[in-house]
Amino acid sequence: MPAKKKIFASVGETEITRAIVDEFTKQFHEYVESDCLIVGGGPSGLMLGAEVAKKGKKVLIVERIDRFTPYKVPSPYEIKLEFYEAGSAEKAAKISGVNRLDDRTIQLNGDDLSLLWKRFTSKYQ
Ligand SMILES: Cc1cc2nc3c(=O)[nH]c(=O)nc-3n(C[C@H](O)[C@H](O)[C@H](O)COP(=O)(O)OP(=O)(O)OC[C@H]3O[C@@H](n4cnc5c(N)ncnc54)[C@H](O)[C@@H]3O)c2cc1C
Repeated sequence: MPAKKKIFASVGETEITRAIVDEFTKQFHEYVESDCLIVGGGPSGLMLGAEVAKKGKKVLIVERIDRFTPYKVPSPYEIKLEFYEAGSAEKAAKISGVNRLDDRTIQLNGDDLSLLWKRFTSKYQ
């Protein structure tokens, strides 16, 4: 019988915790002196950080939240679109599954938000 190939190193919680802390400390030590400090890792902070880093500057971004929770809206979905012109709503209302609410507003309904939007935009040219 062939010997079992070892996939994981035999380490426990202690070694893993030390490795996480060491890596964080190494990065923090290096970035304690930076050219630019950005407080907040939202879209503005991240974009700004990327732009400044592209210019060759050392950037540190600090964010108070340590987890990411995507915003979720439960299905079924209802999208209402109000156009600037009645002509656009008239054109959209010709697509099957699209309801016309008034001269400038249409409505789409469905259970899959991305599919609903993809279907509409592929037919509304
Ligand atoms: C429910 C909801 C749904 C949305 N949906 C959409 C959408 O579908 N499409 C769209 O384009 N926009 C959407 N928006 C708007 C979008 O989220 C904002 O326009 C965008 O996040 C603004 O980016 P920002 O970087 O300016 O601010 P924020 O995203 O608010 O980022 C600021 C960051 O700074 C951090 N921060 C604040 N104070 C400190 C501190 N003292 N130390 C460390 N960190 C700190 C915060 O934790 C946060 O992460 C939505 C907004 C909400 C509330």
